[in-house]
Amino acid sequence: MSGHDRLTDIQGVLLDLDGTVYEADHAISGTVETLAALRSHGIPYCFVTNTTSKPRSVVVERLRQAGIAATPEQIFTAPAVARDWLREKQFTRCYFLLRPPLLADLEGVEAVDETPQAVVVGDMGDDFTYNKLNRAFRFLLDERCAFVTLAANRCFKGGDGLCLDVGAFVAALEFATGRKAELIGKPSPAFFEVACASLHADPAHTVMIGDDLESDALGAQACGLRGVLVRTGKFRAEQLAVSGKKPDFVLDSIADLPRLLFQ
Ligand SMILES: [Mg+2]
Repeated sequence: MSGHDRLTDIQGVLLDLDGTVYEADHAISGTVETLAALRSHGIPYCFVTNTTSKPRSVVVERLRQAGIAATPEQIFTAPAVARDWLREKQFTRCYFLLRPPLLADLEGVEAVDETPQAVVVGDMGDDFTYNKLNRAFRFLLDERCAFVTLAANRCFKGGDGLCLDVGAFVAALEFATGRKAELIGKPSPAFFEVACASLHADPAHTVMIGDDLESDALGAQACGLRGVLVRTGKFRAEQLAVSGKKPDFVLDSIADLPRLLFQ
């Protein structure tokens, strides 16, 4: 491989989870070997996910079942980063569009149904109802109520095909209120900064690898990281073809990452 075909001087790697490291209930082939290669070369890594349907403890267990060892501290979820952000802004009473188990990652912020300081949108899957969305809509008509979303992804790959993700519901609330939600998860700069800092890695020497063109690869590039897209999970060749911006590299899967970094 020529020098142009690989990434050099990398100090840290951020790995997306769904569609990159695992899919449904199994690890994507080559993940375990890739993580071992990173460790043997002394490259720190962490997992960054916009999953807002599972608390960190469940993510750790899911990784373990897929044969991947990880600690909660190695996993950056939007709710975990949002917790610090909300507390810093002193938004301690919030209306959450979020599944109740996720509130474990938001300790110190109270879930309320009346006069919230902020509406916080995450994943509710089948539990999204007209009433819940409408309640959020009414709170947001008061400009003093902050509008926060944990993710803005358009879709994710479910067991039976592509599924509507949080971004679609946020767009509905944005449309109805004329307001713009503040994003906490990928691809917000704050999210990437927190993850890079945890690895003591300079963003310019950090790689983000994921299956979401916008939130993972291009989002990371916009924050000064190197963006690598994988052709697994929700990857769609048509979307890449029409995109005006391109990732630094496109790999068949995470299994090709060691070749990009070390050979
Ligand atoms: Mg993904």
